[in-house]
Amino acid sequence: MNNIKLITFDLDDTLWDIGPVIIKAELTTRKYIEEKVGAIDWGDMESFLNLRKDLVKEDPSLEWDIGKLRKEIFRIKLAPLASNQAELDKLTEDSYEYFLDKRHDIIFYDGAITALEELANLCDLGVLTNGNADIKKLGIDQYFKFSISSLDVKSNKPELGHFEQALRLSNLDPNEVLHIGDHQVADMIGATDAGFSALWFNNKQSNWEQDISKPNEILDWHNYQTIKEVL
Ligand SMILES: [Mg+2]
Repeated sequence: MNNIKLITFDLDDTLWDIGPVIIKAELTTRKYIEEKVGAIDWGDMESFLNLRKDLVKEDPSLEWDIGKLRKEIFRIKLAPLASNQAELDKLTEDSYEYFLDKRHDIIFYDGAITALEELANLCDLGVLTNGNADIKKLGIDQYFKFSISSLDVKSNKPELGHFEQALRLSNLDPNEVLHIGDHQVADMIGATDAGFSALWFNNKQSNWEQDISKPNEILDWHNYQTIKEVL
C-alpha cells in the first residue's frame, strides 16, 4: 500500500465534532428569526424529521442539496409571518445565511491542523463531504487541492459520485488514493467500493458493525504518523 498519492478527507465528525455545532446553530438561528418576526412554533424533533422526509419525497434533489432543504424548512416556518413573497424570500435567505455562518463555528479536533499541515507536505489532499462546510471559510483551504460536496456530484457518499470525481480531478487510479473518515458506511464502505484504501477515524471508539473487514483505524489526530506508514 505504499503507493498513495492523494488522501481524501471527510470533514464533519472527522476534523471536528459537528453535532453540538448544528444544535447551537439551529437554536441561535431560531432566536435570530424570532427577534425579527416574533414567536414561531418550530415543532418537536419528530415533526422536524417528518417534515424533512416529506420534503425529500416531494423533491429528491433535497437529499443531496441540504442548503436548499434547510431553506425550504425556513420558508415553511416563515410563510405565515411574511406579508409578501419578497419579504418571505428575504427572510428565508437571511435565516439561511445566519445559520450557515454559525454552522462554521467549529473547533478542530486536537492535532487535526498539525496533521493536515504535515500530510499536505507528503502528498496531495482533498475533501469529500456530504455536508456544506466551506474549507475556505474555515481557513483550511490551503491544505487541499479540491473539495467535493454532495451538491457538486448530486449524490451522497457512500454512492460513488464523490470518489469518482476525486479520481477525475486528480487523474489517479483508485489504488493511489486513501480516504479518511468517521462514518462506517458513507466513508469506509463508500471508499472501499470505490477501490480506495480506507482509514477509519474512530475517535468515539465505536465497534465496527459492517460486513467487510474493519479498516485500519486512528483514534485521534495525534496519531497521524501512523498514516505516514501506509503512504
Ligand atoms: Mg463525517
